Amino acid sequence: MNILVLNSGSSSIKYQLFRWPDERPACSGLVERIGSEQATITHKTFTPGASPAELRSTLPLPDHEAGLLEVVRLLTTGPEAVIQAPAEIDLVGHRVVHGGEAFTKATLIDEEVKAEIRRLFGLAPLHNPANYDGIEVAERVFPQVRQVAVFDTAFHQTLPEKAFRYALPTALYTEQRIRRYGFHGTSHQYVAAQAAAYLENPDARLITIHLGNGCSMAAVRGGQSLDTSMGFSPLAGLVMGTRSGDLDPSVLLHLLGPLGYSGAQVNNLLNKESGMLGLAGSNDMRDISAALAAGSPDAALAYDLYAYRIRQYIGAYAAVLNGLDAIIFTAGVGENDALVRSKVCQDMDFFGLALDETQNQQRQPGLRDLSAPGARARVLVVPTNEELEIARQCAELVE
Ligand code: ADP
Repeated sequence: MNILVLNSGSSSIKYQLFRWPDERPACSGLVERIGSEQATITHKTFTPGASPAELRSTLPLPDHEAGLLEVVRLLTTGPEAVIQAPAEIDLVGHRVVHGGEAFTKATLIDEEVKAEIRRLFGLAPLHNPANYDGIEVAERVFPQVRQVAVFDTAFHQTLPEKAFRYALPTALYTEQRIRRYGFHGTSHQYVAAQAAAYLENPDARLITIHLGNGCSMAAVRGGQSLDTSMGFSPLAGLVMGTRSGDLDPSVLLHLLGPLGYSGAQVNNLLNKESGMLGLAGSNDMRDISAALAAGSPDAALAYDLYAYRIRQYIGAYAAVLNGLDAIIFTAGVGENDALVRSKVCQDMDFFGLALDETQNQQRQPGLRDLSAPGARARVLVVPTNEELEIARQCAELVE
């Protein structure tokens, strides 16, 4: 079977084609700046036993349909072709950010599912419309192929009501659906399953820590999410690249009232100008790390604040789980930034956490156990793979 995974953004398409059942990626790529004369495509083909072949091109792509057709051309032509014709694709898996309360798992797409995704535009105005367009384009380009939606929110639909409700008047939940949804679910689910398998304990009490541009944590036990740090939107919880994370709501009122900000300005401030960018002038941890090495006090504070918030959530989630078997670092920062891991794990012996600093400094691919010998709880790095998790969920659905 060939499974094509698509992640459609407002001006981009990320894609990966998997051979099934051996879970092998045949190719992957990224189409960017769709809608411009200077759109770019980076396309990588993987052949077992050889290094990946990479092809880059710049071309005009007026819309997503033109972009996906160009991807099909790359999949099917030339010496690097991975399939002969679009009909050889058996399933298309779409990442959809918001599944609301309707979707608790991967779902075959039909007209009713599409209508529900449209109804959710209001809850995820930046993401769901682009994901939806990607579905419609793929339906036109692959008319015979089954399409599956995999939602970022679905994994967190197991949260108990005390964890997902806000202490607001009930009608705001029942009529307006204002509640915690949580995001990055595909990543939390994937790394939690990898960790539980490594620990040979399906019931392990796990805290998953996804630190990318967006950052979130989840308390997971028995493969179920019990709590998570993102909320009604991906703005809540941890300090992120450009997002503030948790904030006293009165700060918003103060900005909107006495300080004269408009709603759009507050939105921009909290989503695009805050987080590490706001504290230390860059949203990329590698820049902040370099600034720290050069003695910047802003970078030092930003690192401390970033790690402190994670530590607070570890405490909270250890309480939710009534104990702790492992914490799992994943995504760009979690997998690569040894200093963040070190700061997070410092003086955490109360929770049984102890980091082996030599292991922590080493760079190796794959799952890594960074725990000091004899530690009661493990510190793991598990590289996330959302595309593979989407493909797995697609395959499970049709098996
Ligand atoms: P996304 O959330 O967009 O999927 P990623 O998981 O790819 O993001 O994470 C991107 C972030 O990871 C970058 O902004 C950067 O801060 C961080 N990052 C990537 N590589 C490194 C590295 N070697 N050291 C520290 N941070 C890194």
